[in-house]
Amino acid sequence: MRRKIVAGNWKMNKSLAQGLQLFDDIINSPDHQQTNVLTIIAPSFIHLSAVAEKVKTNPNIAVAAQNCHHLSSGAYTGEVSAEMIKSAGAEYVIIGHSERRLYNNETIDLLIQKVNIALKNKLTPIFCIGENSDERHSNKHLEAIKFQLKDTLFHLSAIDFGKLIIAYEPVWAIGTGVTATSHQAQGMHNFIRAEINKKYGKEISEQITILYGGSCNPQNAKELFSCLDVDGGLIGGSSLKATDFISICNSF
Ligand code: PEP
Repeated sequence: MRRKIVAGNWKMNKSLAQGLQLFDDIINSPDHQQTNVLTIIAPSFIHLSAVAEKVKTNPNIAVAAQNCHHLSSGAYTGEVSAEMIKSAGAEYVIIGHSERRLYNNETIDLLIQKVNIALKNKLTPIFCIGENSDERHSNKHLEAIKFQLKDTLFHLSAIDFGKLIIAYEPVWAIGTGVTATSHQAQGMHNFIRAEINKKYGKEISEQITILYGGSCNPQNAKELFSCLDVDGGLIGGSSLKATDFISICNSF
C-alpha cells in the first residue's frame, strides 16, 4: 500500500529561529501524532541540518531540500550539491518546482541532471510536474503532462523510477488560492499513473506516490486526499502555520 505523505515547502520564508519554532509547534502538537502519514518538511538550505537533527529519532517525519545543484561539486559559488544536502541529514529533495523553472530558467536538460545526481546521492526526488493555465484552458493539459513525464523522467530505469515521488502541481493553482477540483486532481493523477503503467508496468505505477500541490488548505485537503490516486499533498502557503499544516496532515 502506498504511504500517505504531506510535504510542507517553506520556500524563502522564516528565519532560523522562526523555522525551528514552527517545526517544534508541528511535531510537538498532540494533534500531530498519526503514524500512517509521513510528514516531510522542506525548509531553506540553511535550516536543513538544524531541522534534520530534530527528526533523527522520528520515523514519521523527514526533511527535504527545496532544490539541489545539477553537478556533483566544483567552483559554483553559492550553490548546494546533492551530496551536501544528504550529509546535512535530508532524505528528500524537491526538483522541478514551477517557481524554479520560471525564475531560475530550469530547463529539461538541467532537471534530468538534477534527478540523476539526487538519486546517485540516495536522495528521493519529489519531482514536480504541472500544466500552465493556457494548457489547461486549451485542453492540452494531458498532453503537457505526458511530455513532462517522458522528457524529464522516462529515461530512468524501472528501479530508479520506482524511488521517485511525483507532485502534480498545476501551475495555475500554485499560490493563487485557486485549487484544482477533486475531479480535476483525480483525473490527472489517474492519467499520470496510467502513463507510468504504460512505460514501467502495473507494479511500479501502483506503488508510486503522487502528491497534489496547488492552494491545498485545511478546507479542501480532505476532499482532495479522498481521491483514489491522490496520495497526499505538497503544501506551500498553508505549511507556514502549524495549525493549518497539522490539519492538512490529519485530512486522510
Ligand atoms: C507549492 O509551491 O508547491 C505550492 C503547492 O504552493 P501553495 O500551496 O501555496 O499553492
